[in-house]
Amino acid sequence: MSHTIIDCYTDEPAGLGVPPYLGTYPRYIAGYLNKDVNYLTIDDIRLWKRHNGQIKVTKISQKTDITTYNLTINFKDVKKILEDTDTLIVVLGVHVPGKYLSAVPGTLNEIIPMIQELNCKKILTGPAVFGTQLYGGKFYEKADLSVFDKVDYSMFNFLYKDVKEYSIKGASIIKQIPDYRMIEIETGHGCDIGKCSFCTEPIKNRVEFREKEDVLNEVIEFYRLGARFFRLGKQTCFYTLPYAVELLKEINSHCPEIKVLHIDNVNPVKVVMDGKNDFEITKAIVKYCSSGNIAAFGVESFDIEVVKANTLNTSPSVAYGAVKILNKFGAERGEDGMPKFLPGINIIFGLRNETKKTQEENMKWLKRIYDEGFMLRRINIRQVAIFEGTSLFNEGKDKFLRKNKKMYWKWRNEIRQKIDWPMLQRIVPNGTILTNCYAEIYDGKTTFCRQFGTYPLIVGVKGRIELKKFYDIEVTGHMLRSVTGKVVKEVEVQVV
Ligand code: SF4
Repeated sequence: MSHTIIDCYTDEPAGLGVPPYLGTYPRYIAGYLNKDVNYLTIDDIRLWKRHNGQIKVTKISQKTDITTYNLTINFKDVKKILEDTDTLIVVLGVHVPGKYLSAVPGTLNEIIPMIQELNCKKILTGPAVFGTQLYGGKFYEKADLSVFDKVDYSMFNFLYKDVKEYSIKGASIIKQIPDYRMIEIETGHGCDIGKCSFCTEPIKNRVEFREKEDVLNEVIEFYRLGARFFRLGKQTCFYTLPYAVELLKEINSHCPEIKVLHIDNVNPVKVVMDGKNDFEITKAIVKYCSSGNIAAFGVESFDIEVVKANTLNTSPSVAYGAVKILNKFGAERGEDGMPKFLPGINIIFGLRNETKKTQEENMKWLKRIYDEGFMLRRINIRQVAIFEGTSLFNEGKDKFLRKNKKMYWKWRNEIRQKIDWPMLQRIVPNGTILTNCYAEIYDGKTTFCRQFGTYPLIVGVKGRIELKKFYDIEVTGHMLRSVTGKVVKEVEVQVV
């Protein structure tokens, strides 16, 4: 029996699996199957279907083709692998649509025609079992799933007692990926206080944490296989983890050569509550994680009317308090050139009771944060995607999205111009050296680079420097959400 996983990439509120991230699903499934598994990406399938398996050289006038950029070592043998496959498992699902620098996740409507002729058992799993949508401001993607023999919920949601074993066995799929990957590590699922109207997490999972030893052993296994970039990102709030401080300490002592150790989602309420313990979690993150780290605060809206109507978890004043705390402990510049640990803020348009006042409130609080000298590493703004089963789907649906849609470009632009742009100059002034930036894609005569990390800053460099190499880059200018820079030197970074 031959098994093949096709990774169409996944993006959820808690958990990223879009390259350069390697998500948890294909790894756990490989471990569950407990045999040699072929790992393919949607990019492999596209290259085979559209370009007959031939990689095209990017002409000087072109952008790197990011639809076929993330190939596995199997890309030349896709046809044979698929012909020999008995069971095909498609991992797919985007719940928080974003823009990706060097990847395009596969959609149902893309993958279905590509696999329908194959003579094998076909299974769909991943967040798509709850629906998927690559673009914000829409309902979930409609597709005829009859091509699949099974839509498998269990492979999407293994019990943690089994993940203990699967996560270790499945780590070996990294050997089929020739490029560097940021390993997304799961620590828990479910949300202990949130009932946010748009969110699928409480529907998908009850609150549960993995055992500390299991998480640690998975990190150690990847480290043994050569991985050096990690994000403890698959959870709704890192501060809620009962063993957050010990885990960070132990990862440090077992994996001394780790290059990047970051986190992702944090509930601002928990940052404020950490004050009762003398901010031990905040201090441990600053001490044991690498710099450039961000706590992504799901504020969603600074308008208290929207907060109430959508039962969001954070009031504007609590979010502001948490921003202050992280700035106090994390603002110092670290070894990679970025501040050590800063807050990021997520804002969502299209929630219930959104009015023009919502934008005024957003601007009022963001401006206050800026005017008082604090730093926000990034502000993510997206339009809500509406999924069945959420309270927004049941009540309100896209009413406010439709009503306010014409305002979104203006609202977003106001935040970008008045907050993001000056903020970025504060965070990385001209002359800052960002170390170990990885050259990812070309766009005409510009090369776009990023450090590995949680929401790394995009750096545009004039000219074409060799891709898939690391460089130290000096910041020379600021765009709204990215910077320009010049290469100081190429650097050797030894990682798988
Ligand atoms: S706090 Fe809200 S958005 Fe975050 S996981 Fe919980 S319910 Fe979802």
